[in-house]
Amino acid sequence: MRTIDHWIDGAVTSSTSGRVGPVYNPATGQQQAAVALASVEEVDAAVAAAKAAFPGWRNTSLSRRAEVMFRFRELVVSHRDEIAELVSIEHGKVPSDAAGELARGIENIEFACGIPAMLKGGYSEGVSGGVDVYSIRQPLGVVVGITPFNFPAMVPMWMFANAIATGNTFVLKPSEKDPSVSLLLADLLAQAGLPNGVFNVVQGDKTAVDRLLEHPDVEAISFVGSTPIAQHIYTTGTANGKRVQALGGAKNHMIVLPDADIEMAADAAVSAAYGSAGERCMAVSVVVAVGGVGARLVDAITARMPKLRVGPGTDPDAEMGPLITREHRDKVSSYLAGAPAEGATVVVDGREADLPADGFFLGVSLIDNVAPGMACYEDEIFGPVLTVTRVDTYDEAVDLINNHRYGNGTAIFTRDGGAARQFQHDIKVGMVGINVPIPVPVAYYSFGGWKASIFGDTNIYGPSGIDFYTRTKTVTSRWPDPSTSTVDLGFPRTR
Ligand code: NAD
Repeated sequence: MRTIDHWIDGAVTSSTSGRVGPVYNPATGQQQAAVALASVEEVDAAVAAAKAAFPGWRNTSLSRRAEVMFRFRELVVSHRDEIAELVSIEHGKVPSDAAGELARGIENIEFACGIPAMLKGGYSEGVSGGVDVYSIRQPLGVVVGITPFNFPAMVPMWMFANAIATGNTFVLKPSEKDPSVSLLLADLLAQAGLPNGVFNVVQGDKTAVDRLLEHPDVEAISFVGSTPIAQHIYTTGTANGKRVQALGGAKNHMIVLPDADIEMAADAAVSAAYGSAGERCMAVSVVVAVGGVGARLVDAITARMPKLRVGPGTDPDAEMGPLITREHRDKVSSYLAGAPAEGATVVVDGREADLPADGFFLGVSLIDNVAPGMACYEDEIFGPVLTVTRVDTYDEAVDLINNHRYGNGTAIFTRDGGAARQFQHDIKVGMVGINVPIPVPVAYYSFGGWKASIFGDTNIYGPSGIDFYTRTKTVTSRWPDPSTSTVDLGFPRTR
């Protein structure tokens, strides 16, 4: 069986650890490859390559670094279909979802192409006699990205585009569930002219992650994944003196006010809940129906659900693929099994859908009359299950969201600008959509939730990414008045 290896110092590097993990095709349920699981020594080799490449890369001019990013952007665009296919075959999402992921990743490369402008510092002339103060931004050194399965192309791009452009060298530890795209991206970076060792990939599991967390030559860690692991990464990484940004899980609520366009809200709920089989940290998983819109909304969503075609990525008509693993599919199903006993109503049960027999498929599901305290309300389900909570007032809806432990994204559907403006002020959530169900910020803003959806105080990508991957040095300089010089400089000495 094919083994997916590391990329160290500019080349595919065969693993010597003797440990591998399975990589499935979620649409068939068959194992299609084995992924290497790095040993401590292999992690050390990747970090050593990145450390050795750092002096040369940080001294490479800004225009040259930008040139590499421009070339990389062109290569990713010209390999778009190949990357999307690779994502689809290991992750299971349909090619149109994979292409969407890639488009949002490319934005981050485009942002990084503008690095010369973003590294400009400040300058204060004449703060005192002959004294000027200015600041410069410098890269950190070896930085690490640890990424989740659900966006195997985009989330690494959230990290390495800015990290490399700012002059750092990078070690990526991708998800072991869909690891192949990391090697394709490494190859494209090399083709773009990135020197060996600037970008490295170690495939692996907890062993690799824990070594990266303690490695003395790692300066910073970016993590995206589930909340328990994000907390572990943040706590351990910072205890070891590293700069850490760790983004965690989510439970995104979408409020629908009585004045909203119900058809528009139902379209938004269906695409935001079931796109990528709900395996998106910005997926809508709770619709909060305010002031009596519940029945109309549930009807409108239910009417749309049978039209959503579930199937493998190889089916050109499929709009939603399988879940990532059998275990995860079964865990998602367990929320449907448990909901009635908790007092909720399963309106559409995805377990009953007519689906391909093989593979990790689950149909789209809708649970109504869901309330705080129920497992399907409190937990991040991370699957194609949408729940509906009915409340009487706007204030109840806001309290519901503000009392939830997660605070990644949220949305409000209304025709009332004043209500929307009040909502953006009141809500304790990091990313807010107004008649937009999945408000992922464009690459020139930054991405990050609140509460248990983030550990650390720096958001990811955009301006926050530039801050995270650089440290500021502030220089205070005094130059004597030229009149004190003993050398004739050829111009009047006092002005
Ligand atoms: P995960 O936390 O299981 O894995 C993420 C990474 O951590 C992987 O690289 C994995 O190998 C590693 N890892 C897993 N267990 C570990 C352990 N015990 N010790 C050390 N490392 C470990 O997450 P996942 O299942 O791959 O991804 C889904 C989760 O990611 C969801 O919770 C989702 O909400 C979240 N997510 C969040 C965002 C965001 O921006 N906030 C974006 C995408 C995904």
